[in-house]
Amino acid sequence: MESIKDFNEVIFDPSVCVKCGYCKSTCPTYLATRDERFSPRGRLIISYKILKENLDIKETLDFYRDLDTCSKCTECERTCPLELKPYLTFVRTKNKTLFGKVETLMAKITTSSKIFFSLSFKIISRMRKAKPPEDNEFSGKFQEKFTDVSENSEKILFFPSCFGYTIFRATAKKTEMLLKKLGVNFMTSPKSFSCCSAPILFSGDINSFKKRTKKFVSKLKKDTGGAELKKILVNGPTCTWIIKNFMKDELEKEFGHEVEVKEVSDFILNKIVDKLKDVKLSDGDEIILHKPCHSESSMGEKLRKLGFEVKETDFYCCGFGGSMFFKNWSMSDELLRKTLGNFEQDIKNGVKIFSNSPGCILQLSRSANSNHILSLISQYLNKIELR
Ligand code: SF4
Ligand code: SF4
Repeated sequence: MESIKDFNEVIFDPSVCVKCGYCKSTCPTYLATRDERFSPRGRLIISYKILKENLDIKETLDFYRDLDTCSKCTECERTCPLELKPYLTFVRTKNKTLFGKVETLMAKITTSSKIFFSLSFKIISRMRKAKPPEDNEFSGKFQEKFTDVSENSEKILFFPSCFGYTIFRATAKKTEMLLKKLGVNFMTSPKSFSCCSAPILFSGDINSFKKRTKKFVSKLKKDTGGAELKKILVNGPTCTWIIKNFMKDELEKEFGHEVEVKEVSDFILNKIVDKLKDVKLSDGDEIILHKPCHSESSMGEKLRKLGFEVKETDFYCCGFGGSMFFKNWSMSDELLRKTLGNFEQDIKNGVKIFSNSPGCILQLSRSANSNHILSLISQYLNKIELR
């Protein structure tokens, strides 16, 4: 996907949709419900009504809710033959309503401090009966300085995301251990850069998102000692997607050169496959793999090369969907059922599910034993030396 340098490049006019309906074929909320209101085309028609018609408060709330059930997967943007950006059109429309403005306010509060996002994850996880992996208690420090400070070494930032700083701390620590084992010169992103502000973007307040991003990036430059940062490795495909598409121009302006943004799991799996050549990590241990909607990684292929027997989910939205897990429970449940429908017997037989998105892991853990793919890899890699 091409990076969006400026939101003004996006056509924000729902009436340009020719209503061909191609986008419905890949929209998970439509495929799960077969209801036009929950399709990209339906949501564009609703957006048009919100923008052009004089709706009363009840109608506005109903339409806002319909827009808000979108899972943010952006599949419709890949399918639309006119290359429209339905998703960005819905979120900006939501923000034209009073309910969208309340959503922005909540998003700003939640993302303003680690205490707030940690609390919201814990409370909602309990309410939704999600069981984050038990091994995620870790209270020590992260890698605060580059592991190699010499002039010419390539400097890489590891971004654990808000999850990695809160309920997935042990996974973030294991990721650091893997990066060290692979000889990568990295530091973990400082406190000033602990959230990519996805909830603000998802609420549709593009200006607030841009302001927050600008502030974050300039603090990041200071907190990394003005380092010649060449790469950012991100925990989770959605944060990778946000940083890659909506923050990259700000990063490049601040650092003065191109900054590559990659999923950390992809980076690590590639390096391990390269180093191990034909050596296997596993003797055919079975796993179920869920590749999240925003992921560009070919994790399944690499895990097979490492000797795992991998069964992949083929319904690409598990129902975490950013705020869907928090707010739209019935749609979230329906998507979870669709994702795991074919794996009931495997789950009964004790096969574990892995993913590289903390959000997806949280959602999947409501139905089955789930964990981060890098937790699995670190467990196997402990037993062997890398050269
Ligand atoms: S594919 Fe594009 S043009 Fe066709 S209905 Fe969907 S958004 Fe509209
Ligand atoms: S972003 Fe995903 S869930 Fe939302 S309308 Fe597009 S395809 Fe459907």
